[in-house]
Amino acid sequence: MKIALIAHDEKKDDMINFAISYKHILKEHALFATGTTGQRIAEATGLDVHRFNSGPLGGDQQIGAKISENEMDLVIFFKDPLTAQPHEPDISALMRLCDVYQIPLVTNLAGAEVMIRALEAGFFHWRDVIDA
Ligand code: PGA
Repeated sequence: MKIALIAHDEKKDDMINFAISYKHILKEHALFATGTTGQRIAEATGLDVHRFNSGPLGGDQQIGAKISENEMDLVIFFKDPLTAQPHEPDISALMRLCDVYQIPLVTNLAGAEVMIRALEAGFFHWRDVIDA
């Protein structure tokens, strides 16, 4: 399964803790991330993470492009709802493409906990069928 991980600055510590907690599940999958998020996850966990550009420099759009090419299966995006983001249009575009292509998307830690447990339980095997 190809999983995209993104965290706004105020949520990066949550993402690191999430990645550490669920490393045993995440390591079974291909991980992708925006630049700084990916660097922090890799440093904290040793997981192999493919890093796109930093979010404000196009990373969200790169992940969106992967979605449009059927090259991304899940998106875990820890959004900061209390801080204005300079790349808000890119964020909206990424979430829109998740809706267009029916890509499971969570935007907070609580949703990510549900998603990762569903992933572990095999609930997303239907994505493998689509990939095949
Ligand atoms: P970053 O991008 O992982 O490079 O910080 C995420 C974002 O802020 O959109």
